[in-house]
Amino acid sequence: MATGQMADDVLVVARDLTKVYRQGRREIPALRGITLAVRRGEWVAIVGPSGCGKSTLLNLIAGLDRPTSGSLQVAGQEIGLLGEEALARWRRHNVGIVFQFFQLMPTLTAVENVELPMLLARRKGARQRALALLEQVGIGHVADHLPSELSGGEQQRVAIARALANDPALLLADEPTGNLDSESGRQVVQLFSELWRAGRTLILVTHDPNIASLAARVVELRDGRVARDVPADEVSHLPELAGIPLRLATEHG
Ligand code: ADP
Repeated sequence: MATGQMADDVLVVARDLTKVYRQGRREIPALRGITLAVRRGEWVAIVGPSGCGKSTLLNLIAGLDRPTSGSLQVAGQEIGLLGEEALARWRRHNVGIVFQFFQLMPTLTAVENVELPMLLARRKGARQRALALLEQVGIGHVADHLPSELSGGEQQRVAIARALANDPALLLADEPTGNLDSESGRQVVQLFSELWRAGRTLILVTHDPNIASLAARVVELRDGRVARDVPADEVSHLPELAGIPLRLATEHG
């Protein structure tokens, strides 16, 4: 039936999604009713001014936090219905997450960092797959290095390999180039672009014009709501985003 087909093809469905943080007696409405669908194979950049709710939305989609109200289905699962443990298990198998500050385990080598989610998921052949993933992201030669022995760009590649470890339906990233020099950032953007072309579904929160211009779709948040949701080739027509150069990642490469 149509619903079954939809569940297969649509990876994220948010309906009237809200998130209110509480600080003592104060209520901070971070999301005020987000309705959004993301299909398998899309590359969505989430943009908007600081504090508009980008990270909150990404964290909810990642299952790192739960909605206050509304519905959020990710990979067929209603996120708000899962308890802590079930949510952690679900997350391990369904989403890969990349953060601005890499968040690698400092005492584990690159390959051990990539292996970790597979060991937690009791997956066989973890070491071999971790090495293959490091090769895939172009840093097989630093597999035995500790994060402190790697450049920022290399650390982010390890984090991307780790995010792919359990072959998740969704690859999510929060400002993945925000802590990188421009050349390393450009290479990381190119890597995301290659992963997308190979069939991955990407949702990235970003201020980086290179990512926003390469993404197939740009969702702009303002004050906890979707202000605009447009295919990227229309982005240059938006006055607020008109400064973003629509250049290719390979321009200098
Ligand atoms: P963005 O990623 O667009 O900068 P955020 O999603 O981080 O925005 O934040 C949206 C709003 O929610 C902001 O007002 C922020 O201060 C608030 N906020 C985010 N996380 C928390 C939290 N854990 N506790 C309280 N307020 C929060």
